[in-house]
Amino acid sequence: MDKIEHIGIAVKDIEKSNALFKKLFGEAHYKVETVESEGVKTSFFKTGPNKIELLQATNKHSPIAKFIEKKGEGIHHIAFAVNDIVSEIERLKKEGFTVLNEVPKTGADNKLVAFLHPKTTHGVLIELCQEINK
Ligand code: ZN
Repeated sequence: MDKIEHIGIAVKDIEKSNALFKKLFGEAHYKVETVESEGVKTSFFKTGPNKIELLQATNKHSPIAKFIEKKGEGIHHIAFAVNDIVSEIERLKKEGFTVLNEVPKTGADNKLVAFLHPKTTHGVLIELCQEINK
């Protein structure tokens, strides 16, 4: 596993949050992307070498809607960059982690992604992501 690729933050109203994080970082988001299959609208910010992803639900069945219902707005996941997501999934399964996506799926920002169940990672939702066409 490599560096933290980004931190995902669940928000209720991405327009409002974009304005707030723009004030915080002193720079606007550089990208907005809706992943309809996941029921999320995302925006991305850069702060130095770091990346922050905001996520808003696009429907009430979205995992983000369920997260906010249970826990409120806040940090939703930590994403780590990996070079070979398929072998990393195999490795983590052998280590006893529950991988939610045995076959990686296409996520936002040109990535193949897979998540680990927070029950096996002390409540932290972990995302693995591999750049597509790398
Ligand atoms: Zn993410």
